[in-house]
Amino acid sequence: MQTKDILEFDRTHIWHPYTSMIDPLPVYPVERAEGVRLHLADGRVLVDGMSSWWAAIHGYSHPVLVDALARQAQTMSHVMFGGITHRPAVELASRLVRMTPAPLERVFFSDSGSVAVEVAIKMAFQYWLSKGERRRTKLLTVRGGYHGDTFETMSVCDPENGMHGMFSGVLPQHLFAPVPSPAFGDAWNDAHFEAFETLLRANEGDIAAVILEPVVQGAGGMRFYSPEYLRRVRGLCDETGILLIADEIATGFGRTGTLFACEHAGIAPDIMCVGKALTGGMMTLAATLATAEVAEGISRGELSVLMHGPTFMANPLACAVACASIDLLESSPWRERVSAIETQLREELAPCADADTVADVRALGAIGVVETVRPVNMAAMQRFFVERGVWVRPFGRLVYIMPPFVTEPDDLSLLTHAVRDAARDPR
Ligand code: PLP
Repeated sequence: MQTKDILEFDRTHIWHPYTSMIDPLPVYPVERAEGVRLHLADGRVLVDGMSSWWAAIHGYSHPVLVDALARQAQTMSHVMFGGITHRPAVELASRLVRMTPAPLERVFFSDSGSVAVEVAIKMAFQYWLSKGERRRTKLLTVRGGYHGDTFETMSVCDPENGMHGMFSGVLPQHLFAPVPSPAFGDAWNDAHFEAFETLLRANEGDIAAVILEPVVQGAGGMRFYSPEYLRRVRGLCDETGILLIADEIATGFGRTGTLFACEHAGIAPDIMCVGKALTGGMMTLAATLATAEVAEGISRGELSVLMHGPTFMANPLACAVACASIDLLESSPWRERVSAIETQLREELAPCADADTVADVRALGAIGVVETVRPVNMAAMQRFFVERGVWVRPFGRLVYIMPPFVTEPDDLSLLTHAVRDAARDPR
């Protein structure tokens, strides 16, 4: 197929994420992705600032991951996980149990972040059902969150400013405290937590779990909030027995400067979800980890089994790549790299703050955000970035970069300078 035919068929027949079929945004055909570069069909090369939606932490086609995939493909590409186990799944689970906060020790594999969160919520509901507490059907969360696109995960996304507001009539109704500002590391303000505590106390007997993205709210607004907030949430959960679910899909594996964002607050959740960078962005895989208390609570119930079992659960190819990605991360100087990226993002994005088109500039780990005063024109922005030789995909009022950890300073500068110019003239 010629590139023009590919584009034509794509435009007429294929849905892209969050995209109209009548007036679609521009779509760029990519032929090859290698290191931190995307190679377009027309020969242009773009420095990637998105890590494929925050997943490709080692860059693309890393030889170690390619090799792990090829070796596993020669042995066993997939087998059902019901009644069968295999080395890649066990080796990956043992790595996850070792590297995540201590009490998390039971692992459920699934194939996407949304399903991992769905499973976490199901675990929480089943835990309480097993105890005979049938009233606990509510989840408590905060505004500004994003947890996925399936129905229960949509029900804990921001109901007003999030992507799924239109479904509110058909979604389960849960409890929302205000956005947990202030910004990361800033002076703590009790008032931000009071509303959360009041809501929890007023509904204590109905709440199964609190669900939060630790310290960084991603697709709901790219906001950073104080770890102290998370510490206090943990304290309230300890006091009341309500479970704490940490959604580390976006933040896990070093993105915020610690291996998991919960570490900023020094807390461990009862249930934790990981995905995205779990396989270095190469394969689709996610996992939900739980404490023995949660897992055994579920198993002591009337039904005793956790009622979930995807066809591609613990896919060996994905598990083998995830093991290789974790080993690669752990043997690399990723902390130094992420810290250097944070410093450069702070320095090079800071000048945007002077523009009257810009509301805020912030950076944490390998995340740099410029929030504009008005929503940006996505199509125009996308064209601008491609012309500048970078891949950045803004949304709403957010122009942000989450580059691979292996991005060299010169390439990062290309990205930050393009973002600076875009934010000053947001089209
Ligand atoms: N949770 C968080 C915090 C996310 O950022 C995302 C995706 O961006 C998800 C869940 C959903 O993951 P997936 O897109 O793999 O279903």
